Amino acid sequence: MTRRIYRGTDIEVSFDGDLCIHATECVRGLPAVFDRERRPWVFADNATAEEVSAVIERCPSGALQYRRLDGAPNEPTGPVTTITAGAWGTAARARVGPSVNCRAQRMAVV
Ligand code: SF4
Repeated sequence: MTRRIYRGTDIEVSFDGDLCIHATECVRGLPAVFDRERRPWVFADNATAEEVSAVIERCPSGALQYRRLDGAPNEPTGPVTTITAGAWGTAARARVGPSVNCRAQRMAVV
């Protein structure tokens, strides 16, 4: 699936359904903005850009991302996370950055 764009006045939201793990942080966090029963399911202007960005930063998969259109800082990015596959295909070792927010990190499987 390609990333779809939902543009509001002060914030642009994008969504990649292939990454969504259905943790429902979005729909529980801001149901007026994120409503899976409505089309389009994202209506960014139903909350402030601060509220929308705060909920998107809780999306654990990175399926939701945002770009601020009001001059406020965009989404923070973190260090790269590396996972090394061990024998029998199991993850034997992981090196993660200091952030407790896994979403803010970029993952590479080697
Ligand atoms: S918070 Fe992210 S992973 Fe969870 S349902 Fe929403 S888009 Fe999907």
